[in-house]
Amino acid sequence: MPREPVTAFVALGANLGDARQMVQSAVQDLSRLPETELTGCSRLYRTAPYEAAGPDFINAVARVSTRLTAPQLLDALQALEQQAGRERPYVNAPRTLDLDVLLYGDACIDSPRLTVPHPRMWDRAFVLHPLADLAPERILPGRLAAVCDQAISPLSGALAS
Ligand code: ADP
Ligand code: MG
Repeated sequence: MPREPVTAFVALGANLGDARQMVQSAVQDLSRLPETELTGCSRLYRTAPYEAAGPDFINAVARVSTRLTAPQLLDALQALEQQAGRERPYVNAPRTLDLDVLLYGDACIDSPRLTVPHPRMWDRAFVLHPLADLAPERILPGRLAAVCDQAISPLSGALAS
């Protein structure tokens, strides 16, 4: 029996090389994942590194409708990170591409390799602002106000969607 599709939100971030191009092409890659339809994308944002190193980040959030399980979705995202040449020399190192599962339907998952909702998403302006573009109703009250000290600005121009 086919699984029902689940609405999931994926955070995208990059701060090495042509970060904007990297995030835009990763959005296109999401649209090509098996059993998965891209149903929306936030604006792109430029953010100062937060708990991370290196140049400014480009961030976005994408919404997908997927029949992949949450671990399968993480596998697929990690394969895209690898394809983008991501290395992990140390924790929070600058990254060519970071793809995180923020929300997977209403699921609460706490396994060794996957925690959903993403445990740090509520403290991060670079997640909450793009998520607010797509699904303001998923943001807990007061959370955007709580991250107002973090520097973030939307990029102008058309978006990959
Ligand atoms: P971070 O995204 O926290 O900067 P990484 O991308 O290197 O760091 O991810 C570290 C580990 O976090 C991954 O190997 C993955 O197994 C785990 N992880 C746990 N929950 C999630 C999630 N919701 N989305 C993505 N990775 C997750
Ligand atoms: Mg990650």
